[in-house]
Amino acid sequence: MADCLFCKIIAGDIPSSKVYEDDLVLAFRDIAPQAPTHVLVVPKAHIADCSAVTPENSAIIAHIFEVIPGIARAEGLENGYRVVSNCGPDAGQTVQHLHFHILGGRPLALEMA
Ligand code: 5GP
Ligand code: ZN
Repeated sequence: MADCLFCKIIAGDIPSSKVYEDDLVLAFRDIAPQAPTHVLVVPKAHIADCSAVTPENSAIIAHIFEVIPGIARAEGLENGYRVVSNCGPDAGQTVQHLHFHILGGRPLALEMA
């Protein structure tokens, strides 16, 4: 998608601090970290958000969750971590390209909202 920030990061047009990459996904450090470790995992294919997941593209979501444990291990998050995806305005989604936040490195508040 020409006008998508994360598509531009995936294309290398905007620099990012990469922590993991394969054919299907890219993971890079959030520019405004909310925890000592704050990594974003994104599909290379443009999917707008969780509501745009379909039987045709859902295999990539499974793949993302297969690679997350290795990213967490590499980041030293042996004490645990949180995976979050914001979907839509009420959730505070600011980038319309599906992404999963990996947060960790300190005890995280238990509130869901
Ligand atoms: P959302 O609010 O949509 O769930 O998450 C978007 C995330 O993208 C935010 O945590 C924000 O800090 C991060 N972000 C926004 N612009 C950039 C950027 O240019 N580079 C990186 N690495 N992260 C960004
Ligand atoms: Zn995109």
